Amino acid sequence: MKFTDEIKRRRTFGIISHPDAGKTTLTEKLLLFGGAIQEAGAVKSNKIKKGATSDFMEIERQRGISVATSVLAFEYQGTKINILDTPGHKDFAEDTFRTLTAVDSVIVVIDVAKGVEEQTEKLVSVCRMRNIPMIVFINKLDREGKDAFELLDEIEQKLDLKVVPLSFPIGMGYDFKGIYNIWEKNVNLFSGDSRKNIEETIEISDLSSGLLDQTIGASSAETLREELELVEGIYPSFDKTAYQEGKLQPVFFGSALNNFGVRELLDCFITIAPSPRPKESDVRVVKPEEKEFTGFVFKIHANMDPKHRDRLAFVKIVSGKFERNVPYLHTRHDKKLKFSSPNAFFAEKKEIVDVSYPGDIVGLHDTGNFKIGDTLTQGEVLQYKGIPSFSPEHFRYINNADPMKAKQLFKGIDQLMDEGVAQLFTLELNGRKVIGTVGALQYEVIQYRLEHEYGAKCTYENLNVHKACWVDPSDPSNEEFKDFKRVKSKFLAKDKQGQLVFLADSSFSLQMTKDKYPSIKFHYTSEF
Ligand code: GDP
Repeated sequence: MKFTDEIKRRRTFGIISHPDAGKTTLTEKLLLFGGAIQEAGAVKSNKIKKGATSDFMEIERQRGISVATSVLAFEYQGTKINILDTPGHKDFAEDTFRTLTAVDSVIVVIDVAKGVEEQTEKLVSVCRMRNIPMIVFINKLDREGKDAFELLDEIEQKLDLKVVPLSFPIGMGYDFKGIYNIWEKNVNLFSGDSRKNIEETIEISDLSSGLLDQTIGASSAETLREELELVEGIYPSFDKTAYQEGKLQPVFFGSALNNFGVRELLDCFITIAPSPRPKESDVRVVKPEEKEFTGFVFKIHANMDPKHRDRLAFVKIVSGKFERNVPYLHTRHDKKLKFSSPNAFFAEKKEIVDVSYPGDIVGLHDTGNFKIGDTLTQGEVLQYKGIPSFSPEHFRYINNADPMKAKQLFKGIDQLMDEGVAQLFTLELNGRKVIGTVGALQYEVIQYRLEHEYGAKCTYENLNVHKACWVDPSDPSNEEFKDFKRVKSKFLAKDKQGQLVFLADSSFSLQMTKDKYPSIKFHYTSEF
């Protein structure tokens, strides 16, 4: 197959949702369609079980699953599909943000009864900022839920999206009869049987035909006609370019558990979702069709076996072909590296591969060369943008609890931070180390992993910080900046990249500081 055809047939995407909306179930049904798995239950949920915060087995279990489900790849009708796993738990939201830098589109799953939930809002807002194309799947139609129009309104308002329904439910919950597929112009009847296949779809290209009444009953047919008329009146017609630019979001209805409406979603997805997209680097925009290989690390996974300290770095290929045993330039270290056993991912396993294409993810064994955001190229010096750190929500001093193991502790902290488990800040005043995290759970993860993987012990001490702001002086040599550094020295720290960070202890003091030093900008993310 031609190189450009290999690119065109790839779809790399993520499924995002609030926990319990049905992400795992949908993933599994998609894999079943691809013939990639044989039975339900094969995909393990990467969820943190409730109340498991201090259960370390649970942390390890979760890590194990998250290695196994990091990338799920399968073939469907000539399309190579790569699903990138995104944790739904809010304490791991940063992992998800980083994974979103490696997807070309997303599917958003919403529970028909719960509507738009907190995590959906956060994750969608990140996708919106980056103009990532989104398809919405409203799930659990076999249950009683919100009215379809009400839900579409809620999605538009809370998520700030412009929706276009491409399917529409006929009844709901107990009365759920099926779905009218606006995209394919046919009716799919719901039987509650999860082995539904395509033959049961009834073509109804003319809505006024009596066939509709025969199929779903006269009163349901009447309601459906009215509703579809409303749909046509209210919503714009589907436009692929607008969708691919992130300006318009098609919506499907269904029930993942019953495998209902999933094939319709998948068939539309492979037709409209973008193949790998160009990506911006610090020097230029790189196109997937370019001959020379480039890619970037969006995730690092530590080996589950503590005796082997090696890690797996997940690289998204942006352009060119990635080949085994070819030396590539690690641009941050200005060093050539070659990889004798790059892993490609399939539904249930990983395998060593010789060649991978743009859109694909390769897993590279790493002994500490990589950190998140690193770029590999065939020789060109460039660095991919778009993997910022966000201000953590929690801050604690980290102290060494075993003076004999200081070296192990620092090495451990260093590597865990490279993996993106948390962020490290070093206070300017006294060199004390502060760990910032998105969720409280990470402190336990760090403590546990430092002990089990590095043989080091740590304790934490509370620290009152409201937000970490990356400091961006308009002129580092002006008096205002010098004054700021002097007056606020107690609150200044460096992040791991050596960027200056202001640790504001309250929103009030942050505002006061902003007012007092108008020439300095304070950013909530590390990339500005
Ligand atoms: P995730 O947290 O988003 O990955 O959600 P899961 O896929 O684990 O689903 C959460 C729960 O909802 C599970 O008990 C599923 O069986 C259930 N579920 C998923 N899809 C449906 C559906 O279409 N209908 C019903 N009734 N339940 C569903």
